[in-house]
Amino acid sequence: MFKALIVEKSEDGAISSGVQQLDDSQLPKEGDVTVAVDYSTVNYKDGLCLTGGGGLVRAYPHVPGIDFAGTVEQSDDARYKAGDKVVLTGWRVGEAWWGGYAQKARVKGDWLVPLPAGMTTRQAMAVGTAGFTAMLAVMALEDHGLTPKQGEILVTGAAGGVGSVATAILAKRGYSVAAVTGRPETADYLRSLGASRIVAREELNETVKRPLESENWAGCVDAVGGAMLARVLGQMKYGASVAAVGLAGGAALPATVIPFLLRGVNLLGIDSVMQPFANRERAWKRILSDLPMDKLEAISKTVALGDLPDLGSAILKGAVQGRIVVDVN
Ligand code: NDP
Repeated sequence: MFKALIVEKSEDGAISSGVQQLDDSQLPKEGDVTVAVDYSTVNYKDGLCLTGGGGLVRAYPHVPGIDFAGTVEQSDDARYKAGDKVVLTGWRVGEAWWGGYAQKARVKGDWLVPLPAGMTTRQAMAVGTAGFTAMLAVMALEDHGLTPKQGEILVTGAAGGVGSVATAILAKRGYSVAAVTGRPETADYLRSLGASRIVAREELNETVKRPLESENWAGCVDAVGGAMLARVLGQMKYGASVAAVGLAGGAALPATVIPFLLRGVNLLGIDSVMQPFANRERAWKRILSDLPMDKLEAISKTVALGDLPDLGSAILKGAVQGRIVVDVN
Protein backbone atom coordinates (compact mmCIF):
# COMPACT_ATOMS: atom_id res chain seq x y z
CA MET A 1 0.00 0.00 0.00
CA PHE A 2 1.12 3.57 -0.58
CA LYS A 3 -0.27 7.09 -0.04
CA ALA A 4 -1.56 9.32 -2.84
CA LEU A 5 -3.47 12.58 -3.13
CA ILE A 6 -6.57 11.69 -5.13
CA VAL A 7 -8.75 14.29 -6.87
CA GLU A 8 -12.34 13.23 -7.51
CA LYS A 9 -15.24 14.75 -9.41
CA SER A 10 -18.80 14.17 -8.22
CA GLU A 11 -21.79 13.71 -10.53
CA ASP A 12 -22.73 17.37 -10.07
CA GLY A 13 -19.21 18.38 -11.16
CA ALA A 14 -17.83 19.31 -7.71
CA ILE A 15 -14.10 18.68 -7.28
CA SER A 16 -12.73 17.31 -4.01
CA SER A 17 -9.38 15.89 -2.98
CA GLY A 18 -7.82 13.97 -0.11
CA VAL A 19 -5.05 11.54 0.81
CA GLN A 20 -5.95 7.87 0.22
CA GLN A 21 -4.19 4.49 0.41
CA LEU A 22 -3.67 2.71 -2.95
CA ASP A 23 -2.05 -0.58 -3.86
CA ASP A 24 0.29 -1.36 -6.75
CA SER A 25 -2.52 -2.85 -8.85
CA GLN A 26 -4.05 0.65 -9.08
CA LEU A 27 -0.95 2.18 -10.70
CA PRO A 28 -1.37 3.08 -14.41
CA LYS A 29 -0.77 0.06 -16.67
CA GLU A 30 0.79 2.05 -19.54
CA GLY A 31 4.09 2.95 -17.86
CA ASP A 32 7.25 0.85 -17.98
CA VAL A 33 9.15 2.31 -15.01
CA THR A 34 7.92 2.35 -11.41
CA VAL A 35 9.43 5.10 -9.28
CA ALA A 36 9.41 5.46 -5.50
CA VAL A 37 8.74 9.20 -5.30
CA ASP A 38 10.66 11.32 -2.78
CA TYR A 39 9.37 14.78 -3.66
CA SER A 40 6.98 16.58 -5.96
CA THR A 41 6.13 20.29 -6.09
CA VAL A 42 3.34 22.84 -6.53
CA ASN A 43 3.30 24.70 -9.85
CA TYR A 44 0.62 26.97 -11.30
CA LYS A 45 -0.63 24.08 -13.45
CA ASP A 46 -0.92 21.90 -10.35
CA GLY A 47 -3.26 24.55 -8.97
CA LEU A 48 -5.46 24.03 -12.03
CA CYS A 49 -5.34 20.22 -11.72
CA LEU A 50 -6.11 20.33 -7.99
CA THR A 51 -9.14 22.58 -8.48
CA GLY A 52 -10.47 21.18 -11.77
CA GLY A 53 -9.57 24.35 -13.71
CA GLY A 54 -8.39 24.71 -17.29
CA GLY A 55 -9.86 21.38 -18.45
CA LEU A 56 -6.44 19.77 -18.00
CA VAL A 57 -7.60 16.61 -16.20
CA ARG A 58 -9.74 14.39 -18.40
CA ALA A 59 -10.38 11.34 -16.20
CA TYR A 60 -11.18 11.02 -12.49
CA PRO A 61 -10.14 9.79 -9.96
CA HIS A 62 -6.83 11.49 -10.66
CA VAL A 63 -3.39 11.85 -9.05
CA PRO A 64 -2.00 15.33 -9.87
CA GLY A 65 1.62 16.46 -9.58
CA ILE A 66 3.27 17.60 -12.82
CA ASP A 67 6.77 16.76 -11.63
CA PHE A 68 8.60 14.45 -9.24
CA ALA A 69 12.02 13.13 -8.26
CA GLY A 70 12.73 9.75 -6.74
CA THR A 71 14.34 6.33 -7.09
CA VAL A 72 13.56 3.67 -9.70
CA GLU A 73 11.95 0.66 -8.04
CA GLN A 74 11.35 -1.53 -11.09
CA SER A 75 12.05 -0.96 -14.79
CA ASP A 76 11.26 -2.63 -18.11
CA ASP A 77 13.20 0.15 -19.88
CA ALA A 78 16.84 -0.82 -20.54
CA ARG A 79 18.04 2.73 -19.77
CA TYR A 80 16.92 2.53 -16.12
CA LYS A 81 17.44 0.01 -13.33
CA ALA A 82 16.31 -0.28 -9.72
CA GLY A 83 18.14 2.23 -7.53
CA ASP A 84 18.65 4.91 -10.24
CA LYS A 85 17.75 8.44 -9.15
CA VAL A 86 15.48 10.16 -11.66
CA VAL A 87 13.58 13.38 -12.23
CA LEU A 88 10.46 13.98 -14.31
CA THR A 89 8.87 17.20 -15.56
CA GLY A 90 6.24 17.65 -18.26
CA TRP A 91 4.89 15.14 -20.82
CA ARG A 92 1.41 15.90 -19.39
CA VAL A 93 2.18 13.78 -16.33
CA GLY A 94 -0.13 14.94 -13.53
CA GLU A 95 -2.66 16.12 -16.15
CA ALA A 96 -3.43 13.38 -18.70
CA TRP A 97 -1.41 10.81 -16.69
CA TRP A 98 -1.20 10.14 -12.98
CA GLY A 99 1.50 12.33 -11.47
CA GLY A 100 3.83 12.87 -8.55
CA TYR A 101 1.47 13.44 -5.60
CA ALA A 102 1.94 9.84 -4.49
CA GLN A 103 4.60 7.66 -2.93
CA LYS A 104 4.76 5.67 -6.17
CA ALA A 105 4.42 6.57 -9.85
CA ARG A 106 4.48 4.44 -13.00
CA VAL A 107 5.62 6.33 -16.10
CA LYS A 108 7.33 5.87 -19.46
CA GLY A 109 11.11 5.69 -19.40
CA ASP A 110 11.13 8.24 -22.26
CA TRP A 111 9.83 10.87 -19.85
CA LEU A 112 12.59 10.48 -17.25
CA VAL A 113 15.90 12.26 -16.93
CA PRO A 114 18.70 10.87 -14.72
CA LEU A 115 19.08 13.06 -11.63
CA PRO A 116 22.11 15.29 -12.31
CA ALA A 117 25.16 14.13 -10.32
CA GLY A 118 25.66 16.42 -7.34
CA MET A 119 21.98 17.24 -6.92
CA THR A 120 19.60 15.71 -4.36
CA THR A 121 16.03 14.74 -5.19
CA ARG A 122 14.84 17.53 -2.88
CA GLN A 123 16.97 20.12 -4.66
CA ALA A 124 15.67 18.86 -8.03
CA MET A 125 12.11 19.46 -6.87
CA ALA A 126 12.91 22.82 -5.28
CA VAL A 127 13.78 23.63 -8.92
CA GLY A 128 10.84 21.61 -10.33
CA THR A 129 8.95 22.48 -13.48
CA ALA A 130 8.92 26.21 -12.69
CA GLY A 131 12.68 26.40 -12.16
CA PHE A 132 13.46 24.11 -15.10
CA THR A 133 11.35 26.40 -17.29
CA ALA A 134 13.08 29.50 -15.93
CA MET A 135 16.38 27.90 -17.01
CA LEU A 136 14.98 27.16 -20.49
CA ALA A 137 13.96 30.82 -20.74
CA VAL A 138 17.43 32.11 -19.81
CA MET A 139 19.02 29.63 -22.24
CA ALA A 140 16.71 30.84 -25.04
CA LEU A 141 17.57 34.50 -24.37
CA GLU A 142 21.30 33.73 -24.39
CA ASP A 143 20.97 31.54 -27.51
CA HIS A 144 19.58 34.73 -29.11
CA GLY A 145 22.67 36.68 -28.16
CA LEU A 146 21.92 38.10 -24.71
CA THR A 147 24.93 39.02 -22.56
CA PRO A 148 25.11 40.86 -19.20
CA LYS A 149 26.62 44.01 -20.69
CA GLN A 150 23.54 44.75 -22.82
CA GLY A 151 21.53 46.20 -19.93
CA GLU A 152 18.75 45.37 -17.47
CA ILE A 153 16.67 42.18 -17.73
CA LEU A 154 13.04 42.34 -16.70
CA VAL A 155 11.50 39.40 -14.82
CA THR A 156 7.70 39.50 -14.45
CA GLY A 157 5.76 37.60 -11.80
CA ALA A 158 9.10 37.74 -10.00
CA ALA A 159 8.03 36.49 -6.56
CA GLY A 160 6.39 33.36 -8.06
CA GLY A 161 8.16 30.08 -8.85
CA VAL A 162 9.38 30.80 -12.39
CA GLY A 163 10.21 34.40 -11.51
CA SER A 164 12.16 33.60 -8.32
CA VAL A 165 14.37 31.01 -10.02
CA ALA A 166 14.87 33.21 -13.12
CA THR A 167 15.92 36.12 -10.88
CA ALA A 168 18.45 33.97 -8.97
CA ILE A 169 19.92 32.45 -12.16
CA LEU A 170 20.21 35.78 -14.00
CA ALA A 171 21.82 37.49 -10.98
CA LYS A 172 24.34 34.63 -10.59
CA ARG A 173 25.27 35.03 -14.27
CA GLY A 174 26.02 38.71 -13.77
CA TYR A 175 22.84 40.24 -15.18
CA SER A 176 21.20 43.27 -13.66
CA VAL A 177 17.64 42.16 -12.84
CA ALA A 178 14.56 44.39 -12.57
CA ALA A 179 11.90 42.31 -10.79
CA VAL A 180 8.21 43.06 -11.41
CA THR A 181 5.94 42.20 -8.51
CA GLY A 182 2.41 42.99 -7.36
CA ARG A 183 3.48 42.23 -3.78
CA PRO A 184 5.65 45.09 -2.44
CA GLU A 185 6.27 43.05 0.72
CA THR A 186 8.41 40.64 -1.33
CA ALA A 187 10.97 43.37 -2.17
CA ASP A 188 13.56 42.18 0.40
CA TYR A 189 13.10 38.58 -0.72
CA LEU A 190 13.64 39.56 -4.37
CA ARG A 191 16.71 41.62 -3.52
CA SER A 192 18.11 38.64 -1.57
CA LEU A 193 17.81 36.59 -4.77
CA GLY A 194 19.84 39.23 -6.61
CA ALA A 195 17.29 41.68 -8.05
CA SER A 196 18.80 45.15 -8.29
CA ARG A 197 15.50 46.96 -8.90
CA ILE A 198 11.87 46.34 -7.93
CA VAL A 199 9.21 47.43 -10.44
CA ALA A 200 5.61 47.73 -9.17
CA ARG A 201 3.12 45.64 -11.16
CA GLU A 202 0.86 48.69 -11.64
CA GLU A 203 3.60 50.39 -13.68
CA LEU A 204 3.20 47.74 -16.37
CA ASN A 205 -0.44 46.76 -15.99
CA GLU A 206 -2.01 49.38 -18.22
CA THR A 207 -2.95 48.37 -21.72
CA VAL A 208 -0.80 49.59 -24.60
CA LYS A 209 -1.46 53.22 -25.44
CA ARG A 210 1.66 53.84 -27.54
CA PRO A 211 3.11 50.84 -29.40
CA LEU A 212 6.66 52.03 -28.66
CA GLU A 213 7.92 53.48 -25.38
CA SER A 214 11.47 54.14 -24.09
CA GLU A 215 13.88 51.26 -24.79
CA ASN A 216 14.32 49.97 -21.24
CA TRP A 217 15.04 46.25 -21.25
CA ALA A 218 17.79 44.13 -22.84
CA GLY A 219 15.77 40.97 -22.22
CA CYS A 220 12.73 39.69 -20.37
CA VAL A 221 11.56 36.46 -18.72
CA ASP A 222 7.78 36.82 -18.70
CA ALA A 223 5.63 34.61 -16.45
CA VAL A 224 2.58 36.88 -16.69
CA GLY A 225 1.53 37.30 -20.34
CA GLY A 226 -1.61 39.35 -21.08
CA ALA A 227 -1.57 43.14 -20.94
CA MET A 228 1.80 43.18 -19.16
CA LEU A 229 3.56 41.27 -21.92
CA ALA A 230 1.97 43.53 -24.54
CA ARG A 231 3.27 46.57 -22.67
CA VAL A 232 6.75 45.11 -22.17
CA LEU A 233 7.15 44.41 -25.90
CA GLY A 234 7.01 48.16 -26.55
CA GLN A 235 9.73 48.82 -23.95
CA MET A 236 12.34 46.35 -25.26
CA LYS A 237 15.67 47.59 -26.60
CA TYR A 238 16.41 47.29 -30.30
CA GLY A 239 16.85 43.60 -31.27
CA ALA A 240 16.10 42.36 -27.73
CA SER A 241 14.15 39.19 -26.89
CA VAL A 242 11.30 38.33 -24.53
CA ALA A 243 10.97 34.72 -23.37
CA ALA A 244 7.21 34.12 -23.03
CA VAL A 245 6.77 31.52 -20.31
CA GLY A 246 3.42 32.03 -18.59
CA LEU A 247 -0.07 33.44 -18.44
CA ALA A 248 -0.58 34.24 -14.75
CA GLY A 249 -2.00 37.62 -15.85
CA GLY A 250 -3.96 36.37 -18.85
CA ALA A 251 -3.71 34.51 -22.16
CA ALA A 252 -4.76 37.33 -24.49
CA LEU A 253 -2.00 39.45 -26.02
CA PRO A 254 -3.44 42.93 -26.68
CA ALA A 255 -0.34 44.14 -28.54
CA THR A 256 0.64 45.63 -31.90
CA VAL A 257 3.29 44.19 -34.23
CA ILE A 258 5.16 47.53 -34.24
CA PRO A 259 7.91 46.44 -31.75
CA PHE A 260 8.70 43.47 -34.03
CA LEU A 261 8.79 45.59 -37.21
CA LEU A 262 10.51 48.78 -36.02
CA ARG A 263 12.76 47.45 -33.25
CA GLY A 264 13.41 43.88 -34.34
CA VAL A 265 12.10 42.63 -30.99
CA ASN A 266 11.85 38.82 -30.69
CA LEU A 267 9.13 36.94 -28.84
CA LEU A 268 10.53 33.52 -27.90
CA GLY A 269 8.02 30.83 -26.90
CA ILE A 270 9.12 28.59 -24.03
CA ASP A 271 7.53 25.16 -23.63
CA SER A 272 8.77 22.83 -20.93
CA VAL A 273 6.29 19.98 -21.48
CA MET A 274 7.40 18.46 -24.81
CA GLN A 275 11.05 19.61 -24.58
CA PRO A 276 13.38 17.06 -26.26
CA PHE A 277 15.61 14.94 -24.01
CA ALA A 278 18.91 16.53 -25.13
CA ASN A 279 17.74 20.00 -24.17
CA ARG A 280 16.39 18.70 -20.86
CA GLU A 281 19.83 17.31 -20.00
CA ARG A 282 21.41 20.58 -21.07
CA ALA A 283 19.02 22.59 -18.89
CA TRP A 284 19.57 20.42 -15.78
CA LYS A 285 23.38 20.74 -16.24
CA ARG A 286 23.01 24.51 -16.54
CA ILE A 287 20.87 24.59 -13.38
CA LEU A 288 23.70 22.91 -11.47
CA SER A 289 26.19 25.54 -12.60
CA ASP A 290 23.96 28.65 -12.75
CA LEU A 291 21.58 28.39 -9.79
CA PRO A 292 23.21 28.94 -6.39
CA MET A 293 21.97 26.16 -4.10
CA ASP A 294 21.81 28.47 -1.04
CA LYS A 295 19.43 30.73 -2.99
CA LEU A 296 17.39 27.68 -4.00
CA GLU A 297 17.06 26.77 -0.32
CA ALA A 298 15.86 30.29 0.49
CA ILE A 299 13.27 30.13 -2.30
CA SER A 300 11.68 26.85 -1.24
CA LYS A 301 9.59 25.50 1.61
CA THR A 302 8.37 21.95 2.23
CA VAL A 303 4.77 20.77 2.70
CA ALA A 304 2.96 17.42 3.03
CA LEU A 305 0.40 15.72 0.73
CA GLY A 306 -2.43 16.79 3.07
CA ASP A 307 -1.56 20.49 2.55
CA LEU A 308 -2.14 20.35 -1.20
CA PRO A 309 -5.88 21.09 -1.53
CA ASP A 310 -5.39 24.55 0.08
CA LEU A 311 -2.21 25.30 -1.83
CA GLY A 312 -3.91 24.59 -5.17
CA SER A 313 -6.23 27.55 -4.71
CA ALA A 314 -3.47 29.75 -3.24
CA ILE A 315 -1.14 29.44 -6.25
CA LEU A 316 -3.96 30.33 -8.66
CA LYS A 317 -4.52 33.54 -6.66
CA GLY A 318 -0.80 34.45 -6.98
CA ALA A 319 -0.43 34.04 -3.21
CA VAL A 320 2.47 31.57 -3.22
CA GLN A 321 6.03 32.87 -2.84
CA GLY A 322 8.92 31.03 -4.48
CA ARG A 323 8.78 27.26 -4.72
CA ILE A 324 6.84 24.70 -2.70
CA VAL A 325 8.32 21.21 -2.36
CA VAL A 326 5.94 18.36 -1.51
CA ASP A 327 7.42 15.62 0.70
CA VAL A 328 5.12 12.74 -0.29
CA ASN A 329 6.46 10.51 2.47
P1 NDP B 1 3.34 31.28 -9.56
O1 NDP B 1 1.93 31.49 -9.16
O2 NDP B 1 4.31 30.79 -8.56
O3 NDP B 1 3.90 32.69 -10.12
C1 NDP B 1 3.13 33.55 -10.92
C2 NDP B 1 3.37 34.98 -10.45
O4 NDP B 1 2.77 35.89 -11.37
C3 NDP B 1 2.71 35.31 -9.11
O5 NDP B 1 3.47 34.91 -8.01
C4 NDP B 1 2.62 36.82 -9.21
O6 NDP B 1 3.91 37.36 -8.93
C5 NDP B 1 2.34 37.05 -10.70
N1 NDP B 1 0.92 37.24 -10.97
C6 NDP B 1 -0.13 36.45 -10.57
N2 NDP B 1 -1.29 36.94 -11.03
C7 NDP B 1 -0.99 38.07 -11.73
C8 NDP B 1 -1.77 39.02 -12.44
N3 NDP B 1 -3.10 38.92 -12.52
N4 NDP B 1 -1.14 40.04 -13.06
C9 NDP B 1 0.21 40.16 -12.99
N5 NDP B 1 0.99 39.29 -12.32
C10 NDP B 1 0.40 38.26 -11.71
O7 NDP B 1 3.33 30.36 -10.84
P2 NDP B 1 4.58 29.64 -11.58
O8 NDP B 1 5.79 30.47 -11.36
O9 NDP B 1 4.58 28.20 -11.25
O10 NDP B 1 4.12 29.78 -13.10
C11 NDP B 1 4.09 31.06 -13.71
C12 NDP B 1 3.43 30.96 -15.08
O11 NDP B 1 4.26 30.22 -15.94
C13 NDP B 1 2.06 30.26 -15.06
O12 NDP B 1 1.21 30.91 -15.97
C14 NDP B 1 2.40 28.87 -15.55
O13 NDP B 1 1.32 28.23 -16.15
C15 NDP B 1 3.52 29.17 -16.52
N6 NDP B 1 4.41 28.04 -16.75
C16 NDP B 1 4.67 27.70 -18.04
C17 NDP B 1 5.52 26.69 -18.33
C18 NDP B 1 5.85 26.39 -19.75
O14 NDP B 1 6.26 25.30 -20.07
N7 NDP B 1 5.70 27.37 -20.64
C19 NDP B 1 6.12 25.86 -17.27
C20 NDP B 1 5.88 26.37 -15.93
C21 NDP B 1 5.02 27.41 -15.71
P3 NDP B 1 4.09 38.70 -8.08
O15 NDP B 1 3.30 38.50 -6.83
O16 NDP B 1 5.55 38.82 -7.87
O17 NDP B 1 3.54 39.81 -8.93
